[in-house]
Amino acid sequence: MLGDYRNSSLALAEDLINTFDLYLEQPEHLREPADLRHFVETREIQFGDFTQSDLDQVRGLRSYLRAVWEAETTDEALRMLNVLFANISIYVQLEVDAGGKPRFLFQVPPDESIAQRLSVEAATGIVTAIQQVGVERLRSCAAEPCRKVFIDGSRNHSRRFCSDRCSNRYNTAAFRERQRRSDGG
Ligand SMILES: [Zn+2]
Repeated sequence: MLGDYRNSSLALAEDLINTFDLYLEQPEHLREPADLRHFVETREIQFGDFTQSDLDQVRGLRSYLRAVWEAETTDEALRMLNVLFANISIYVQLEVDAGGKPRFLFQVPPDESIAQRLSVEAATGIVTAIQQVGVERLRSCAAEPCRKVFIDGSRNHSRRFCSDRCSNRYNTAAFRERQRRSDGG
């Protein structure tokens, strides 16, 4: 499994997609450029001024990443990721990882947009997840209106909800629905 991935590229992808949360009265967490700055700074990515255009681009990226996350097959996910990579000015560097082994580092030139930088980071994270646990474990919450994305780490691939909150909410609603039907005939 992926172990603790809270500070990884995968967590960035997941968190970015979840900045739009239909469960909340105000679903949009990235309302203005300052919100984007906050999101980026907490991930220790250095970037200059954030404009409305940056925000619009990042919101567009977010929708695209959700579509990748919800892809039914590996082929479909990879096709979409290839489109994303084709639109990024990317170059490859090598570094030594914690175990002393070389690894590829994908980078974008420093003058590229924040959306491009987040694209590389998030796409790399999603690729890692697909490699290690498979596309079917990239899930989104089944308790509408919540659509939060998460990685299904359950042993039998059965996790359907982002949280206990949503699991309880879903089961309570299903229970009430059964009662209503049996009462109403
Ligand atoms: Zn949920």
